[in-house]
Amino acid sequence: MKLVDLSHKIKPPHDQFGSTIIVEGDQCYDTSGYYSSKIYMGSHTGTHIESNRHFNRDGVAIDEAPLSDFYGNAAVLDLTHKKGRVDITSKDLEEAAGKAGVDLEKVKVVLVRTDLSKLWGTPEYKSNDRPNITVEAHEWLINKGVKVIGADMLVPERDRLGSDPSVKPSDPERWPAHCLMNKYDFYLIENLTNLDKIPKPFFTFIGFPLSLAGAEASPMRAVAVIE
Ligand SMILES: [Zn+2]
Repeated sequence: MKLVDLSHKIKPPHDQFGSTIIVEGDQCYDTSGYYSSKIYMGSHTGTHIESNRHFNRDGVAIDEAPLSDFYGNAAVLDLTHKKGRVDITSKDLEEAAGKAGVDLEKVKVVLVRTDLSKLWGTPEYKSNDRPNITVEAHEWLINKGVKVIGADMLVPERDRLGSDPSVKPSDPERWPAHCLMNKYDFYLIENLTNLDKIPKPFFTFIGFPLSLAGAEASPMRAVAVIE
């Protein structure tokens, strides 16, 4: 059995948005005989999973979600040929699944590989000129029974602010794929990495959030288990 680490390292002083991460010594070896630390960071730091509480006030909080949702059959789909400001549609996902020989009806978790994770930590990683997994593509996966949709990008869809004059900064429709959280019970994982290191398209996924009471998201250690 082989385990592939799909999470970025969490490292002060900043997360992927530039928000502060602090890890500081609380007790130290010299005065207490042991070391422990205090940690401060956002719930969307690094590789993280979001439940539909993120966009839906009545949605499932991350600690209320059944653990079985975060463990199971998974597929990684190669969309690395999609470069720049392009859409990733259900047709693209269907083609990638066909090439990989994966039956999406049999998987709980779908990870979309773009290899943008290789730009992690650079300004380009945050650029809006990146692929956009369409709302239609998300719905197509959800209707196949997929519960968790992950990508090795900052966000699965493109920010509509700036490109659509009708969209305001506070408008949830800036993030149309996230808005599906008002319609379906599913999860999004953002900022995955090492999807190129998963040696076969069909594998077992394990990735649990922390049991943060009432939270809408949590950093996670996502792992591909290769039998
Ligand atoms: Zn998100």
